[in-house]
Amino acid sequence: MEHQPVKRNILLNPGPSTTTDTVKYAQVVPDICPREKEFADLMRGLRSDLLKLVHAPEPEYTSVLFCGSGTINIDVCLNSLLPEEGKILIINNGAYSQRAVEICDYYGLPYMNLEFPVDTLPDLARVEEVLKSDEKIALVHTTHNETGTGILNPIREIGALAHRYGAVFTVDTTSTLAMRPISIEEENIDFMMASAQKGLMSMTGLSFIIGKRSIIEVSKRYPKRSYYCNLYLQYEYFEKTGQMHFTPPVQTIYATVQALKEYFAEGEQAKWERHTRAFEAIHRGLDELGFQDIIKREWQAGLVVAVRYPSDKNWDFDRVHDYCYERGFTIYPGKIDRTDTFRLCALGAIDEEDIHDFFKVFQEALEYYQVAIPVQYS
Ligand SMILES: *Cc1c(COP(=O)(O)O)cnc(C)c1O
Repeated sequence: MEHQPVKRNILLNPGPSTTTDTVKYAQVVPDICPREKEFADLMRGLRSDLLKLVHAPEPEYTSVLFCGSGTINIDVCLNSLLPEEGKILIINNGAYSQRAVEICDYYGLPYMNLEFPVDTLPDLARVEEVLKSDEKIALVHTTHNETGTGILNPIREIGALAHRYGAVFTVDTTSTLAMRPISIEEENIDFMMASAQKGLMSMTGLSFIIGKRSIIEVSKRYPKRSYYCNLYLQYEYFEKTGQMHFTPPVQTIYATVQALKEYFAEGEQAKWERHTRAFEAIHRGLDELGFQDIIKREWQAGLVVAVRYPSDKNWDFDRVHDYCYERGFTIYPGKIDRTDTFRLCALGAIDEEDIHDFFKVFQEALEYYQVAIPVQYS
C-alpha cells in the first residue's frame, strides 16, 4: 500500500529513535482482539526473532515481553531473579545502574552498590574482591552502554567473574541491543533487555528480556515481590498460551514485527557500520566546532556522545535546542550530576548525511546566538 510520507525528524536523543515510514504505517491495521490465535502467532514469531538478534540458541534461551518502557525490564529482573537469602551486587558507574539501585531500595532488596566515577571503567579487581568476600551475592547487575555518558562497560569480564562466584548476571543492554553486535553466550550474559524504540527503531510501549530458560524456571520458587512485574508469571503465561498475561501494546507489536524485518534485511553488520558512520560524523562535527566530550574516545560505546557545555556566556542549551528543534533536529540534555553536558546520539534510522545536515543547522544556531567558534572552555 502507498502511504503519504510523514515529516522526517532527526532525533539525536538517546531514544525513542527516528523510525522509517514503513514501521510507522505498520501500526495501521484492522482492529484485532489480541486474544486471537492470529495475534499469538505474531508474538511467537516476534519472540523467536528477538533471540536471533543476540544469537541466543533455543530452547536454552527465551524472550519474555512486557508492556512498558525499558525501565520495566530492570525492575522485573531484579525483583524476580533474587533468591530468598541472596543479595544483589550493582556495578554502578552511571545513571542507569543508579536506577537499578533505586529499584532495590523500593523493593527493600538486599544489595551492594559498588560505585565508580561516571567517566571511568569499573575496577574488575575490586569487583572480584567483593564477590569473593560476600558469598550471599546471587545476582550481579550492570549497564552495557551507560546512556548518560556513552561509556561501554566490560560486560564479558564482569559476567565471567559473576559466574566464577556462582551469581546470575543481568545486563541492561537497552542502548546497545540491535545496534552493537552482541552474542549472548560470548558475553557471559544470563539476562539482557531492551525496549522496542531504541536499537530496533520501533515504537514505544514494548520491552523485552532475553535470558536463560533454566534460571527462569528455578525462579518460580523465589519470593514473589511484584505481581505485574514478575518474570516467571509472564513467562509461564507465554508458555501456556502464547500470549501476554495482560493486554499487550497491540500496535507497537505490529510496528516491531516490521522493524525486525527491516533489521534482518539491513543486516547486523551493515546496521552497526551505519551507526558507526553517524557516530564518527558526530565526532567530526563536534571537533570542528571545538567541543569537548567527557569520556575517553576509546571507552565510548559508539552510540552516544556526552558533550561538555562551553564556557561562553552566550551559550544557552535551551535556545540552541529550540533553534534546531524548529528545523527538525532534536538534541538532548545531559544526565550527569556534577558536569553540565548535552548529548548527541547515533541511534535510529539515520545516516551520516543527516548528521552533516544537523551540523549546518547547529552551527547556524551558534552563530545566531553569537557563541564564539571554535567554542571556548575556561
Ligand atoms: C533508555 C534506557 C532505559 C529505559 O528508560 P525508559 O525511560 O524506561 O525508556 C534503561 N536503560 C538504559 C541504559 C537506557 O538507555
